[in-house]
Amino acid sequence: MKMKKMLSAVLASVLVIGSVTPCFASSTQQKIDEAKQQKQEMESSISEAQDKIDALESKKGQSESYLEELNGQLEELKNSLQKLQDDYDDKQEELGQVQQELEEAKESEAQQYKDMKIRIQYMYENSSTSYVEMFLSADSISEFLSRAVNIAQLSEYDRELLDQYQETREQIAEKEKQVIQEKEEIQELQIQSQDKQEEVSELIEATYNEIRSYQDNISQVQSEQADLLAQVSAQEEEINSLIRQAKEEEIAAQKAEEEAQRRREEEEAARKQQSSSSGSGSSTVQTPPQNETEESTEDSGNSGQGKYLGRFRLTSYCPCPICCGSWSGGLTASGTVPTAGRTVAMGGIPFGTKLLINGHVYTVEDRGTAYGHVDIFNNTHSQALAFGSQYADVYLVE
Ligand SMILES: [Zn+2]
Repeated sequence: MKMKKMLSAVLASVLVIGSVTPCFASSTQQKIDEAKQQKQEMESSISEAQDKIDALESKKGQSESYLEELNGQLEELKNSLQKLQDDYDDKQEELGQVQQELEEAKESEAQQYKDMKIRIQYMYENSSTSYVEMFLSADSISEFLSRAVNIAQLSEYDRELLDQYQETREQIAEKEKQVIQEKEEIQELQIQSQDKQEEVSELIEATYNEIRSYQDNISQVQSEQADLLAQVSAQEEEINSLIRQAKEEEIAAQKAEEEAQRRREEEEAARKQQSSSSGSGSSTVQTPPQNETEESTEDSGNSGQGKYLGRFRLTSYCPCPICCGSWSGGLTASGTVPTAGRTVAMGGIPFGTKLLINGHVYTVEDRGTAYGHVDIFNNTHSQALAFGSQYADVYLVE
């Protein structure tokens, strides 16, 4: 995890006002302002892209919970369809039984009818051929009457039995009709459930497609956002290089101004020597200032201290979340362990660059500030706060 500082301690707590107005070329400053403006526009585009992503994510989330609901419905439908299938199977079995019963009832009825017909035929055949014989063969009239009654009773019994069989057969046929109707009702419910299942399956597919389309849109906007982020990084590099250029122009202007001043003083001294050729101690008085000017010119140039980069703003930061945000407590942007007295952050200059500041050599290991603003690592937030905001000459150690 890279540690990229977000805000220095001072920036987070104190609003820095009244920065030193530099005297470098205004055209470079104009370029810096324009580049910063462009960077701001890119950043607002990134933020707009983030809003779009958030809106799409929210819609995607809604679709996902709808999909979950639909899957639940489908599950229920499958269960109810399974139950209907079970009911149907039960009905089918019941119908088989009823039809078996009906078959038996029909057979019983037919058998009864056949038996009855035979019995009646036999009785009437006997009675018709030998009615008198039967009368005569009877030992008494009571016997004959009893016989006649038996015949009547027997046929009545047969008719009752036949009626009973018929009734049973009709009842079973009625039952068969009812079971067939129930079976048809179950079939109707099965069709309805299947239709509903198809409907829900179609909704599920449409919602899947919707989610995929949201995801595609999100990926597209994310890729646009990544492009913009890369552009912002390039723009930051551009701004840093412009600031560096401005600093160099500032130093060159200073040198030119000092050079001009030195020439003016030399000319002045030459004129004074010419006008007062009789003066005796003036030459010894004139020499030291010349040496001093030369020495100071050398100091701000390429002397033993290294290349002068300019007068930079200094602030301090620590590993706390106020200073480092989500990178708090991690490694530096260059992958080193941040170390007080060594680690500093500044953009526009390679990692590992050594800077001489106030007689101490630091190493650029982190990012977070633009070129011209050195953020110095400290162990605690109170140390960072105490450091405040300062200005110092910064030299490149070579
Ligand atoms: Zn801090």
